[in-house]
Amino acid sequence: MKVRFLGTGTSMGVPLIGCNCEVCTSRDFRDKRLRSSIMIEFNGKCVLIDASSDFRVQALIYRINRIDAILITHPHADHVFGLDDTRIFYLKNRKPVELWGSEFTIDNLKRLFFYAFEGKRDERLVKPSFNLNKVREKFELFGVTITSVNAIHGDMPVTGYRVNNLGYITDFNFIEEKEIEKLKGVKTLIVGALRYSPSISHLTIDRAIEFVKKVKPEVAYFTHFSHEILHSRLEKELPANIIPAYDGLEIEV
Ligand SMILES: [Zn+2]
Ligand SMILES: [Zn+2]
Ligand SMILES: [Zn+2]
Repeated sequence: MKVRFLGTGTSMGVPLIGCNCEVCTSRDFRDKRLRSSIMIEFNGKCVLIDASSDFRVQALIYRINRIDAILITHPHADHVFGLDDTRIFYLKNRKPVELWGSEFTIDNLKRLFFYAFEGKRDERLVKPSFNLNKVREKFELFGVTITSVNAIHGDMPVTGYRVNNLGYITDFNFIEEKEIEKLKGVKTLIVGALRYSPSISHLTIDRAIEFVKKVKPEVAYFTHFSHEILHSRLEKELPANIIPAYDGLEIEV
């Protein structure tokens, strides 16, 4: 299974508009972060986790020319606003894009993209076309068992995903022990770790390290960084089995 980080930035991206801080002006390419999303390839299929607000740019940079399914973590703009840009795949294949998410996510996608769901379809209108699938605790996708993991992100439920030996969970500040159990045994864990300073809706670096110690993967990657995170500094601070991800990073799981 191949995993590509299409974006590793928090909701506002890095650099932040109008910011002259050390990170926003850094010349290190690893400090340039589009909004968070990954592409997973397995059994000849391409599965996206989240369609970020930068999806169009990410698709052009990484030459994404097909998507077989999209797993959505939660309906915040930075994770779903790229969905409209998946219209191109509908135009090419005349097949709705398969979306997976919690009931909460699906209900809110219907509100955010009302124009794709309301009224009779008129193909001349080039609207996005989605097939909405509600996640169960375990479900099959292209021959692989996916486990959905529930967590809380401030005032919003979020869904993490376990795909075989890979766990992906971002944008959360609270998770029950029984949900952590679902991730145990993964070889690779990707976790959102916003910044050093406190947050009421995300794990900070310290709390993300504690979380990794509970799940005990062989290796963990941190993602969804704010502009507090200088890649070269964080890299030196983290335990040996935790790696800060960066845009474009490709890993084999
Ligand atoms: Zn986010
Ligand atoms: Zn900044
Ligand atoms: Zn969020």
